[in-house]
Amino acid sequence: MPGSSRLPVSLRDTFSAHRGSPRGQLAVLNIEVLVANVNNNNRLRNIVFILFLLRWSRILFYQLKGRGIFGSLSDLYVAVRRYLYGVFLRLPGVRDKVQTQVSESLLKLERKLVPSGPGIERVTALPSTGWSTEEVSKKLNELAAMEHTRWEDGRVSGAVYHGGDDLIRLQTEAFGKFTVSNPIHPDVFPGVRKMEAEVVAMVLSLFSAPEGAVGVTTSGGTESILMACLSARNKAYAERGVTSPEMILPETAHTAFRKAGEYFKIKIHLVPCKAPHYKAHLPSISRLINPNTVLLVGSAPNFPHGIIDDISGLSKLAVRKRLPLHVDCCLGSFIIPLLPKAGFDFEPFDFRLKGVTSISCDTHKYGFAPKGNSTVLYRSDAYRKYQYFISPDWSGGVYASPSIAGSRPGALIAGCWASLMAQGENGYVDACHKIVGGMKKIESAIRENPALNGDLKVIGRPLVSVVAFHSPSLDIYDVADGMGKRGWHLNALQNPAAIHVAVTLPIVPVVDDLVRDLVEVVEEVKESERRRIAEGKGAKGAVKGDTAALYGVAGSLPNKSVVVDLAKGFLDTLYKV
Ligand SMILES: *Cc1c(COP(=O)(O)O)cnc(C)c1O
Repeated sequence: MPGSSRLPVSLRDTFSAHRGSPRGQLAVLNIEVLVANVNNNNRLRNIVFILFLLRWSRILFYQLKGRGIFGSLSDLYVAVRRYLYGVFLRLPGVRDKVQTQVSESLLKLERKLVPSGPGIERVTALPSTGWSTEEVSKKLNELAAMEHTRWEDGRVSGAVYHGGDDLIRLQTEAFGKFTVSNPIHPDVFPGVRKMEAEVVAMVLSLFSAPEGAVGVTTSGGTESILMACLSARNKAYAERGVTSPEMILPETAHTAFRKAGEYFKIKIHLVPCKAPHYKAHLPSISRLINPNTVLLVGSAPNFPHGIIDDISGLSKLAVRKRLPLHVDCCLGSFIIPLLPKAGFDFEPFDFRLKGVTSISCDTHKYGFAPKGNSTVLYRSDAYRKYQYFISPDWSGGVYASPSIAGSRPGALIAGCWASLMAQGENGYVDACHKIVGGMKKIESAIRENPALNGDLKVIGRPLVSVVAFHSPSLDIYDVADGMGKRGWHLNALQNPAAIHVAVTLPIVPVVDDLVRDLVEVVEEVKESERRRIAEGKGAKGAVKGDTAALYGVAGSLPNKSVVVDLAKGFLDTLYKV
């Protein structure tokens, strides 16, 4: 092969042009070019093939390291089963049947959620002439009084985290004073800017933030979590060139992390949180770490079981692997940092652990701020700067915004600031006493009351506000439905099947009623199972309530596409007039 054959084609053409060669020579040269191209192509193909092999062996290596051979095989089995069941669900006969059932369920749901029939006014366009203030006000009263699950009587687990009627009045006053305000214009609304900075500072101090720690306020826990994940992803890209980011979550971590995975294209690895502790399994996390890992996550506590992960262990791992660690204290919010002051047991969870780089804390949960308030805190600006959005060359002017929203409600910040100031540390310590005390009452009833402790089992060792329980002997969802019939709205959980109570201030005064009803319901469910067995029908197959029907089916399906269809239909229903 002549040395020149390695030259790029364009260069070679210039060469031949220079030589002013006759036609025949040109043709030879062209053939030479062709041959060279083929050789180059071969070489290129080899390189591509080797890169391909390298890439896949790397992926395979980290898959095997992360999940082991048996774990990987089991992942494969689950994926194949899910795929095949998906094919089965799409078979002509099956598909129609499934769709009919989904539509029926959704119709039932719509009847429950969307009032209809004669006498129901429905607004589908602007009133051509605006209503009078009295008319609007009267209608607002009616809307507030629509028949609903009685959170006011403490019948709803979680959901309403309020700090009493005086606080609500104060919040409403704060809204009124800052209705038009928008923190995007700090010169126009200097008071809002000041309050926002002070809210962040107060929460930072509650979480033992070190010198140099920073934070922002957001619209809620989900946005706080999204921001922490975005920041971790952007940091890894900017500083380590990570283009296929991954993060490792305890399976009990709030699903907002999975939302972040979907929105920001971060691959999610889930780690089991098994009995008896129900904490994220550290060796599994350690094995899953690879060069693409951008964030480790722990909850303090998690939503399903109210369990605090081993944050100390996670912190050590994060330091060792030089990875950021986010601790989700959205739910723990103003309770977990005050457990020691209220005299309760606690486990370390905050910035005092060296590896903790960010924390989400919902002021709108146990901070009792109005809904639409949360904070995300960072150990230093080296993390926060990666969540900012800055657009220097927009025709609308230089634009900078700290989080997802552009314009934001200053009224909510005022409501949040007012709540924190009015409660004060003593107010929150007092609330912590009541709420954790209420949780412990339910926990010890389940552990110690002979009418409950045979059939219900507390999950792990809850230390904060949530107590979850499952049943080795009964369908726990029947218990949830039985409580539902008595006006209680408890949370249904899955994997494992369980329910939980997230104790809030409105629940505290009715905890004894809740335990009494729980005893009755357990007896009732046992009785009905006994009766069915006596009648020779078997305990299974009884007519099920809504929770049991949904989770009974959902739990047994290898492919959740039916559940996805139902849930999508649910969201659609929310927008029906
Ligand atoms: C409520 C909650 C969140 C999310 O908060 P939203 O304000 O509903 O977006 C996150 N993590 C935990 C543990 C929670 O309980």
